[in-house]
Amino acid sequence: MLSDKKISLSEAEIPRQWYNVQADMPNKMAPPLNPATMKPVTPEDLTPIFPMELIKQEVSQERWIDIPEEIVEKYRIWRPTPLIRAYELEKALDTPAKIYYKNEGASPAGSHKANSSIPQAYYNKAAGIKRLATETGAGQWGSALSFACSLYDLECIVYMVKISYQQKPYRRSFMQVYGAQVIPSPSDRTQAGREVLAVQPDSLGSLGLAISEAVEDAIGRPDTNYALGSVLNHVILHQTIIGLEAKKQLEKAGDYPDVVIGACGGGSNFAGIAFPFLADRFSGKSSVRALAVEPTACPTLTKGIFAYDYGDLGKLTPILKMYTLGHTFMPSGIHAGGLRYHGESALVSQLYHDGFIEALAFNQRDIFDAALTFAKCEGIIPAPESAHAIRGAITEALKAREEGKSRTILFSLSGHGHFDMAAYDTYLAGDTRDVPCDEAQLASYLSCLPKVE
Ligand SMILES: *Cc1c(COP(=O)(O)O)cnc(C)c1O
Repeated sequence: MLSDKKISLSEAEIPRQWYNVQADMPNKMAPPLNPATMKPVTPEDLTPIFPMELIKQEVSQERWIDIPEEIVEKYRIWRPTPLIRAYELEKALDTPAKIYYKNEGASPAGSHKANSSIPQAYYNKAAGIKRLATETGAGQWGSALSFACSLYDLECIVYMVKISYQQKPYRRSFMQVYGAQVIPSPSDRTQAGREVLAVQPDSLGSLGLAISEAVEDAIGRPDTNYALGSVLNHVILHQTIIGLEAKKQLEKAGDYPDVVIGACGGGSNFAGIAFPFLADRFSGKSSVRALAVEPTACPTLTKGIFAYDYGDLGKLTPILKMYTLGHTFMPSGIHAGGLRYHGESALVSQLYHDGFIEALAFNQRDIFDAALTFAKCEGIIPAPESAHAIRGAITEALKAREEGKSRTILFSLSGHGHFDMAAYDTYLAGDTRDVPCDEAQLASYLSCLPKVE
């Protein structure tokens, strides 16, 4: 008799505190800089676009931060998410490894991003804000924020990268159902958008540009704040609910991971599952490994450099010390839109730099191959982003088979792929191309970094 496949928690067992890695990381992250003055950012610099509670979380050094009951109440709509032992996948791989995945695709918005959209909407509402502006690339963050804004009765405006707006009409409909206004970016509503349209009227946009548009919108209106779906410390804090739940669930199963794996775009879902386990490594209680997986087309950790850079094309955001491909980086049109950001969380970057995190990059066709294997075994069609984590887990499981040793693998299934079927069609038709990052071009992007000191 096998032990349970689905390891459940009751709603009463939803964690009541988020874990803040800033309290424990051996080397602190470098301070973010104000792009106008090149001096460390002060809380006052951030108040035009963020509420004070989120700014406090951004800089907090407290290990545990209480989750307000009003947020837990909304988390209960879909949390705790199931932790699932991938017995069928293990069998198909003929591996002695144990593979567990945390299914964050169970959220109403279809991905882990709702773990942060709910608190962000909550704290903005509490601060008297009426409207939130944001950007979305593939559409998952826009969906999650639209859902959260509808729960807290906030207006939501989403600047959606134009190529996705055209390619993913149902993502747009999804946001509109929750009442959001969705604008294709570049748009003529902002100076950043108009500048691009003036030189390139048929521009299909980029995430860096859509961020500039949303930030400009928020700066321009006192009733409006800005919300970001990854990268920032407060987003990572909110996402630790994934790893904290997984820890309780594995404890119930009498298990503990040797390696924790996540797809890495801006870093929040990876950090969310990995940081609560890395806490044990900082305190010397475990030697757990943390593995971030990214696309070869946007290889921020594996090919980027650790340096101060802007978060957006328009240079409006604070300058962060992070792994970056350069803020002018234009990723090729790969299907994992959520992994196409040029930068990386400063916390993930520092810990990668210090050797606590490993990284791997895979090509698109490898990713879809892993996605199909997973779907056929476990029944869930993963988001192409999540398929990077699956690919990482399969790599670890095959290594275990080679070595003839068991190991326990945990990964984050960050979202389902129900809005990505066009990408699956392309793969099934044999038309998916691998598009590794062009090293010569990369050098030119990296030559545009801001000069600091
Ligand atoms: C956005 C997204 C990612 C990437 O998340 P980060 O937190 O930015 O690294 C991964 N998977 C899915 C399903 C996403 O929507």
